[in-house]
Amino acid sequence: MNFETEAIRTQLDNALHREHSVPLFLTSSFTFADAEEARAMFNDEIQGSIYSRYSNPNTDEFVTKLCRLEKAEDGIATASGMSAMFTSMVGLLSSGDHILASRALFGSTHQLLTKFFPKWGIEHTYFNLHRPEKWESLIQPNTKMIFIETPSNPGLDIVDLEVLGQLAEKHNLILNVDNCFATPYLQNPIEYGAHLVTHSATKYIDGQGRTLGGAIVGKKELIEEVRAFARNSGPALSPFNAWLLSKSLETLSIRMEKHCQNALEIARYLENHDELEQVKYPFLESHPQYELARKQMRLGGGVVTFVVKGGLERATSFLDNLKMLSLTANLGDTRSTVTHPASTTHRKLTEDERAKVGIAPALVRISVGLENVNDILADIEQALQASKNKKPNGRISHITDR
Ligand SMILES: *Cc1c(COP(=O)(O)O)cnc(C)c1O
Repeated sequence: MNFETEAIRTQLDNALHREHSVPLFLTSSFTFADAEEARAMFNDEIQGSIYSRYSNPNTDEFVTKLCRLEKAEDGIATASGMSAMFTSMVGLLSSGDHILASRALFGSTHQLLTKFFPKWGIEHTYFNLHRPEKWESLIQPNTKMIFIETPSNPGLDIVDLEVLGQLAEKHNLILNVDNCFATPYLQNPIEYGAHLVTHSATKYIDGQGRTLGGAIVGKKELIEEVRAFARNSGPALSPFNAWLLSKSLETLSIRMEKHCQNALEIARYLENHDELEQVKYPFLESHPQYELARKQMRLGGGVVTFVVKGGLERATSFLDNLKMLSLTANLGDTRSTVTHPASTTHRKLTEDERAKVGIAPALVRISVGLENVNDILADIEQALQASKNKKPNGRISHITDR
């Protein structure tokens, strides 16, 4: 079936009451018919729910659906995006292994690689995503995984999935792609050779700013290894959150169509704006990787970034003067949200590290919502004008961690 139909018609079988909408299974455990069934289930001889840390009908429905949309063989649901990233790496890697990663990564993923994994002997090398011809030379004898994010947060850099898929195949590496920004509606990394696709379902998959969630989907043999680790370490998604996320997937296609349409319209309006320096959006012809974005993505996504002329103070004043757009760390919401990465999500990077991934002090990230595009534009425009002669409130007086 087609994407929209799978997203709507992948459902649990009816339970007791021939219900049309899937019920919520708030139960920590499940009963066995007899002692023999319990033994067989624990031994994986029969499938079924045992205990909600392992699986639950609601998480099963969410994951089954996501697997169909990502064209994946198997998957597990996790309590947050970061637990998906962490579990997908730690479940497969050992001390002495090496990860090759693109430098443009979500702030917490960067923290895992640089601050925590070295304590357990897992090393990494960052590659320059604009020099694909160099990537192969960075593979070491102990390299086991390639981890990337495309488009990246917040730089909106595009990483070439086809080149990485071929490298992973040639060198027998696990290609793990954080597909949070694109969602399975815009991009299926597995079609390019990815072995694992990881998600923060908190963003577009929920799409309404209500819950945290995550997922790891991909090759069956890898998922089995990750599942064994997850069952014992416990990053399980709650049934209620899984129920919400599964419902949300039903509308993913129409939401993404509208997010992308609004974002492109806003990017085009802002592109030649006198008060802005760099407007970035994957489907703007001026994006340095426009051709690649067109090749591997169905549409350009819902995030637009720009640098406000006048530096940090002006950018801060712009944020303070917004009336409708929400100043918040989340993205992928029905409501348009604004973030200043340098002082919030990416504050733990050094100035130099931020510069390397294109996070200027005055960079603003807008996650374009589903409001009427003219209202979103009007708010951006009035805040840009007001910030010309108003000082910021002083909430962000400096960027920490210089
Ligand atoms: C938000 C985000 C994450 C982390 O997800 P949480 O659900 O907040 O834990 C990981 N990767 C990307 C690209 C993100 O935007």
